[in-house]
Amino acid sequence: MKIVFLNVPGHGHVNPTLALVTELVRRGHEVIYYNNSEFAPQIQQSGAEFRPYPDPQPTAVALAEKANSLPQVSVWVLEQSQRLLPWLLAELRREPPDLIVFDSICLWGMQAAQLLGIPAAASITTFVAEGVKGIFTVRDGLALAGQALTALPGIIGKRRQLTRTYGPAVFPRPQIFPAISSTNLVYTSREFQPESNFIDDSFHFVGPSVDTAVRQPATFPWDMLENGRPLIYLSLGTIYHNKADFYRLAFATFANHPGQFILSAGRMTDIAALGPIPDNFIVRSFVPQLELLPRVDAFITHGGMNSINEGLYFGVPLVVVPQQMEQALNARQAARVGAAVVLGDRPPYGRIQANDLHQALAQVLADDRYRQAAERIGRSFRAAGGYQRAADILELAHEPPLNLALAHELSSLR
Ligand code: UDP
Repeated sequence: MKIVFLNVPGHGHVNPTLALVTELVRRGHEVIYYNNSEFAPQIQQSGAEFRPYPDPQPTAVALAEKANSLPQVSVWVLEQSQRLLPWLLAELRREPPDLIVFDSICLWGMQAAQLLGIPAAASITTFVAEGVKGIFTVRDGLALAGQALTALPGIIGKRRQLTRTYGPAVFPRPQIFPAISSTNLVYTSREFQPESNFIDDSFHFVGPSVDTAVRQPATFPWDMLENGRPLIYLSLGTIYHNKADFYRLAFATFANHPGQFILSAGRMTDIAALGPIPDNFIVRSFVPQLELLPRVDAFITHGGMNSINEGLYFGVPLVVVPQQMEQALNARQAARVGAAVVLGDRPPYGRIQANDLHQALAQVLADDRYRQAAERIGRSFRAAGGYQRAADILELAHEPPLNLALAHELSSLR
């Protein structure tokens, strides 16, 4: 099969697909993968042919800026669809694939597949929040409503323009994201997915595809790790990493802690400007997270879905300090299954006190139930089949979707 992947520039969206791509290539499929050039090395390393989006390419920074507000993400997604659809339709007509795999935020991928009648699958890197009861608190709801007020005219206008240009086929469902298809891969387990009436048989919970071989190489001073003391890993992911205040708070909180701490401070953080680093901290801009996690006793994370998945995959108890709403949802789910303590999950997110951070870490280190819960979810992830099952599912996803454009034309002829 010739398979086209469409993704956005975010490690959290790309990483879960890499092992899958490698597996598809190993099975003899041709994979063409579109993204921002920044992601070319990893994508090429996975065995796919990398192709850049046309300029100006959606950047990781632009995406990160929007991610604070879900309504703003909707505006961004619609803008990208307006910009990319004409180009994408031409690309796909020139070289039609057998299957399109689009990240569930790549509305343009779903729309192109619909318009051209090409079989498609969605790649969903979060658990499915749509239709989950009680997942938003009243405060989340109020924050969302405030953000939606300013974003709504843009959303309505852009949506209308797209429908006018391409017909109703480009919005087969009410929501803008997650964009879904007749086959939907979700990189978590059924055990970690909260109940939702949005989920049907088209959703396949394959677990996280955790594979060090396809990850960006990162060096690490392994010989600096000291045996016999708790090892704690801290990271706010690859997007929300320019958080000097949080890092300084962690330094102050844990400078006298008996444990050893590893901080992944992010590539945009000037580590020298953080001030004095306590002796029990190793600070790097990027670390080999997958290789570190099996060795650590606790993970203080922002709650990006990949970090949560990877932490639980290796049975690591979590302290989650979400930086935005989606991460707050992930955090609450990790707490609901008993594997995490959550701090600062109310808007404005991520505001915490040193005492609370200290107490939360003490709690997950002392009470073994957190580790046991993390291990239970980790087992469910391993049993979910990972990238091999995901590849099996994609190989079966060749049934063309109902071409809604065609269906619409037929119904208007009646
Ligand atoms: N990551 C890594 N090393 C680092 C920081 C992050 O390998 O020092 C990887 C991590 O393993 C995960 C991804 O980057 O796969 C971060 O994704 P996540 O969804 O947790 O957060 P995001 O960066 O999207 O906010």
